Amino acid sequence: MDSVRTLIIGAGVSGLATAAALSERKDDDYVVLEADREIGGWCKTVKKDGFVWDYSGHFFHFKHPEIERWLRERMPGQRIRVVEKKSFIWFGGRWIDFPFQKNIHQLPRADFIDCLHDLYFARSSDVKRDAPAPEDNFKEMLHARFGKGICDRFLVPYNEKLYACDLATLDKDAMGRFFPYADLTDVVRNMKAPDNASYNATFTYPEGGAIEYVRALASAVRKGGVSLQEGLVSVDLARKVATTTRRELRFERLVSSAPFHRFADLCRLEHDPSTWAYNKVLVFNLGFDRKGKPGVHWAYFPSRETSFYRVGWYDNIFETDRMSLYVEIGFPRDAEIDGPAMRSRVLADLEREGIVAGHRLVAEHSVVMDPAYVHITRRSMAEHARLTARLREANVHSIGRYGGWTYCSIEDNMLEARALVVGWNS
Ligand SMILES: Cc1cc2nc3c(=O)[nH]c(=O)nc-3n(C[C@H](O)[C@H](O)[C@H](O)COP(=O)(O)OP(=O)(O)OC[C@H]3O[C@@H](n4cnc5c(N)ncnc54)[C@H](O)[C@@H]3O)c2cc1C
Repeated sequence: MDSVRTLIIGAGVSGLATAAALSERKDDDYVVLEADREIGGWCKTVKKDGFVWDYSGHFFHFKHPEIERWLRERMPGQRIRVVEKKSFIWFGGRWIDFPFQKNIHQLPRADFIDCLHDLYFARSSDVKRDAPAPEDNFKEMLHARFGKGICDRFLVPYNEKLYACDLATLDKDAMGRFFPYADLTDVVRNMKAPDNASYNATFTYPEGGAIEYVRALASAVRKGGVSLQEGLVSVDLARKVATTTRRELRFERLVSSAPFHRFADLCRLEHDPSTWAYNKVLVFNLGFDRKGKPGVHWAYFPSRETSFYRVGWYDNIFETDRMSLYVEIGFPRDAEIDGPAMRSRVLADLEREGIVAGHRLVAEHSVVMDPAYVHITRRSMAEHARLTARLREANVHSIGRYGGWTYCSIEDNMLEARALVVGWNS
């Protein structure tokens, strides 16, 4: 039987960042098992007929300059664009600046009055973003802080389309720092002094696509350290032996970035499968023969009539002359997706919303991200804590967006992987 000191599952950002951190410590007795034929996980890029698309729009906002520097040092010759974000909401036939809740003064008059009235009388509209939220769930939090007007027009339909669930099942902090809070004062101030700054007011994007950050990570992994098309099949926690699609492997410690509910099954941990709710996202990447709307990077679509919840324009990031879109549609975890039917519907919706206007589709790609957004609920948090504590007793660690059952960025993935490795005695 082969043996390895550190067995890493998944060659996405989390798995590769773990391997890179180990290499830096010269502790390179590790192997990364990747079930897919390529590295990158959800951070892959597709190039077709001159178009560059990620699996879904991936844009980067580094809070830690040392992380960004580390990556850039490993991307020689790669041009990285720094872009000032332009994002909108398509509502009632007009473009409203994002976030909706701070720009209600741009709505038609009757909608504006409803939203402002309900915001004023909302239960917690004056609660500051960092104050502990007394509400019970995400939907209640939205209503308590923003009132019915804003909820009915944007926050509820948009998030229901994205998460594909009843928002009352989500924890009140399900979106963490990614939720753009605004209190009554912020909203009123924004009417005369626009300040739509957010965590991603400017973003970076490599010209070769998101995969370039993954390649930078992979360049720090020892040669032969990744085994592609080798899936983890089961883990015997007591014997510390992993069975893969090719072999048995004894390990000292194991780091998994596989989706937690699946990994828990592979480890034969007893758990209730209904705890792990999530959505999947169908993405269409579409390339057209000529330019479309300029000056927008992505836009949100709350209308329930429209199939997609978000559309992005790569050509306005790359400043190229052919419209290059990503289109995202959310589905519940168990939904059967009829790809061709959805494709027809998406193309019709793009025409109806005026995004496509006589353009000719010249290239396309689609992918289902499954899972895409995990549903963070009280139950999932408690179960994840209970089961990961049990895994840690066997020196097994479940990390990353899906291993950690959380909402995070690739920078968070890198920080988590580094912190885990730093915590080990060499
Ligand atoms: C729609 C969408 C948009 C996003 N946009 C952004 C953005 O703009 N900016 C940003 O920073 N982040 C963004 N993210 C988040 C980002 O994609 C993730 O944080 C990151 O890709 C997660 O990396 P990971 O390695 O934790 O997981 P993954 O990318 O899921 O990698 C896990 C890997 O494990 C492999 N694996 C699973 N099971 C097994 C097994 N049994 N055996 C072997 N291998 C296995 C998988 O094949 C996969 O390669 C977005 C996510 C989504 C869904």
